[in-house]
Amino acid sequence: MYHGAQYGWIEVVSGVMFSGKSEELLRRVRRSLIARKKVQVFKSHLDDRYGGVFQVSSHDGQRLDAVPISKSVQVAELVRPETEVVAIDEAQFLDDGIVDVVNALADRGVRVIVAGTDMDFRGQPFGPIPQLLAIAEKVDKLHAICVVCGDLATRNQRLIDGKPAPAEGPTIQVGGSESYEARCRRCHEVPAVDRSQTEIPIGAAEGH
Ligand code: ADP
Ligand code: ZN
Repeated sequence: MYHGAQYGWIEVVSGVMFSGKSEELLRRVRRSLIARKKVQVFKSHLDDRYGGVFQVSSHDGQRLDAVPISKSVQVAELVRPETEVVAIDEAQFLDDGIVDVVNALADRGVRVIVAGTDMDFRGQPFGPIPQLLAIAEKVDKLHAICVVCGDLATRNQRLIDGKPAPAEGPTIQVGGSESYEARCRRCHEVPAVDRSQTEIPIGAAEGH
């Protein structure tokens, strides 16, 4: 048994880009440090927008770097036996193995906090996030503000030279505000999706 009778669990912080997932993850990590928990933070190496690492510090002077990882198995390898809280940012870029890894950690008594965007730029479920949402004890779905109309944004709008990117592009393409915008369902545009193939005929049932 890990840490005596301590219970572990999984929390997922999900939602569109710019919705504050990283802020929320860091807030939870900071509070864990205040509670003097032993914490480790990981994030996908693909996201080097902030210089490869981000740092969390608590008011009592503890500091923590996020460790860049490229594969889920690295979390299992790098986690220390005494660690009580594991936080993983940008989890949408990780392989499906992360589901088993975080489950095993929670089974061992670890509190696991996972953040990641839930949909790709086409509006499709992104990587392992759907599985993580399903198995988590606690789920928070955050929203941003649609930069077009000001409503709540739920979708990642990919842009190429300022124009909506076609659906055929690669699913993973790391970028910030120069290549992505937060948009609502109405303002989200994915050109070149042949809607005639996918359109669901809502309200088209034949009358009797
Ligand atoms: P995420 O991890 O979800 O991408 P971050 O925590 O990195 O989000 O950043 C959230 C911050 O982004 C917000 O607090 C806000 O200052 C800023 N921001 C930029 N664009 C938007 C937007 N369209 N809607 C809301 N917040 C935005
Ligand atoms: Zn909108």
